Amino acid sequence: MKKGISRRDFFKYLGIGAAGTVFFEGISAKPAAASDNLPSFDMGPLKITKTKETSSGCSYCGCGCTTIVYSENDKVVYIEGDPDSPVNEGALCPKGTALSDVYTIVDKNRQRVLNPGRLTEVLYRAPGSDKWEVKDWDWALSEIAQRVKKTRDETFEEKDENGVTVNRTMAICQMGSANVNNEEDYIINKLMRGGLGVVDLDHCARL
Ligand code: SF4
Repeated sequence: MKKGISRRDFFKYLGIGAAGTVFFEGISAKPAAASDNLPSFDMGPLKITKTKETSSGCSYCGCGCTTIVYSENDKVVYIEGDPDSPVNEGALCPKGTALSDVYTIVDKNRQRVLNPGRLTEVLYRAPGSDKWEVKDWDWALSEIAQRVKKTRDETFEEKDENGVTVNRTMAICQMGSANVNNEEDYIINKLMRGGLGVVDLDHCARL
């Protein structure tokens, strides 16, 4: 890398260049003048010019990459890596680069629209059923709590087959999330291990 330009500066410049590439509206190359061969461009304003910037995190894996989310009227316009992040220093992997597609997609008419596959309500499929039912959050949380309590009470072991005290249930496991921070992880572990006796805990970003 050229001396005098830090990695962070490099990604800032790169980000500006990439944003320009993606968000210049109505790019129209004019025919080259006879006197020079360089085309001129009428690029118009950047789509992110009037957007609000919000610092956020990538939701996919546990690397902890930080992003800048550009939004307008509460709609996500663009997401890029945060050059000030000590973790990813402005870079995002291909999954992180496509983060905004969780919220919106480009339709057949090449228009960016809300992703119709995004879940916005609680769906429940009863055992043996082939149909999803829409439920509210109060019902879902109450149902989860009752089933966890019932399963835990029915399967809790104070001692194993050798008489060793274990105080555990092997019938419940817990999956973590890349978006859970240290404090939330601490609370989850206290509830699962100390509160319920769950010993099978795992994480989507087991790096
Ligand atoms: S999925 Fe990619 S961009 Fe997202 S946190 Fe992981 S490495 Fe970073």
